[in-house]
Amino acid sequence: MGALLKAEIESMANELGFLRFGVAKAERLDEEANYLEQYLREGREASMSWFSETDEVRIDPRHEGMLPSAQSVLVFAYPYPRLREPLHYGPGRIARYAEGRDYHNVLKKKLLRIERFLHERGFEARHSVDSRPVFERAWARRAGIGFIGKNCCLIVPGYGSHLFLATVITSAELPPDAPLDGNFCGSCTACLDACPTDAFVSEFRLDSNRCISFLTIEERGSIPVELETGIGEWLFGCDRCQDVCPFNRSKRIPDHDQGPFDPLPVHRELDLETIFDLDDERFRETFAGSPLKRARRDGLARNAAIVLGNRAAKRALPVLRRVHETHEAPMVREAASRSIKRLEESEEA
Ligand code: SF4
Ligand code: SF4
Repeated sequence: MGALLKAEIESMANELGFLRFGVAKAERLDEEANYLEQYLREGREASMSWFSETDEVRIDPRHEGMLPSAQSVLVFAYPYPRLREPLHYGPGRIARYAEGRDYHNVLKKKLLRIERFLHERGFEARHSVDSRPVFERAWARRAGIGFIGKNCCLIVPGYGSHLFLATVITSAELPPDAPLDGNFCGSCTACLDACPTDAFVSEFRLDSNRCISFLTIEERGSIPVELETGIGEWLFGCDRCQDVCPFNRSKRIPDHDQGPFDPLPVHRELDLETIFDLDDERFRETFAGSPLKRARRDGLARNAAIVLGNRAAKRALPVLRRVHETHEAPMVREAASRSIKRLEESEEA
């Protein structure tokens, strides 16, 4: 019964375009609970307070805040484009996962079909695409989809790490897959060595306070001055520790490269400097359906000011001076002021 149901879900997952599907037994994540506890104790979650607010739910899918009847965690991996040249936004770059439509919306529709299918069979089910406290990477490892690399990403052997992870927690009891255990990274340290802001405390230990992905997307205040130069060209997110990973050199290009995660026109066409002139309404319209709206209008303008100071040289000075004098958000004015200083100093050098 369980095996048949699993085969039916697997066939749906293939039809929906998922690259991998696996099942783990729904139980407390004892080993990963220690990892999460250390992450929180060391303050490495930065201002992402939802980690500490939901840690008990995150480590046990049977928690009353999730699904007390849970028997299985279904894990799905969906690829995003990664082999063509990265997209540039003038002198700024956005992370590959964010080039196309917002993955939350795209994958949610697919998971709802699986959730509905389980409901029709009389089971309870709750989906999550980064939208509920679910430790996706841990479940993906337990479900045999991949292993966790020293860069803390889930890596699928023979494919790499450019994947979105999504889960459905269900009361259906399905045969679990065997986890992928072992040291697949070997002696490689390419990701740790390449990180522009030294965000890795050690192997498998990321300090979000220093990570460009966190800083450019989730940070709502100013970015620490000592990290601004390291941000380099990154307007939104950062791919560096994945780009250097040998597991991402696979030549296999999924069919989905032409799908919903192809670059949105707004990501191809908008000039970096235009970001400073968007009011709230135009920001919402411009970035409707785009993952970039997560950074919010002032956050994206702050990032743009930093990138111009790092990459654009002299020609950015007039626009940065205007932003410094007129932008309504203090953190954007501050970022512009520091970029002006950096550019003037580099001119003098
Ligand atoms: S995403 Fe960028 S900043 Fe964050 S750990 Fe990886 S290389 Fe470092
Ligand atoms: S770059 Fe090397 S150490 Fe880092 S995750 Fe990839 S294989 Fe592991």
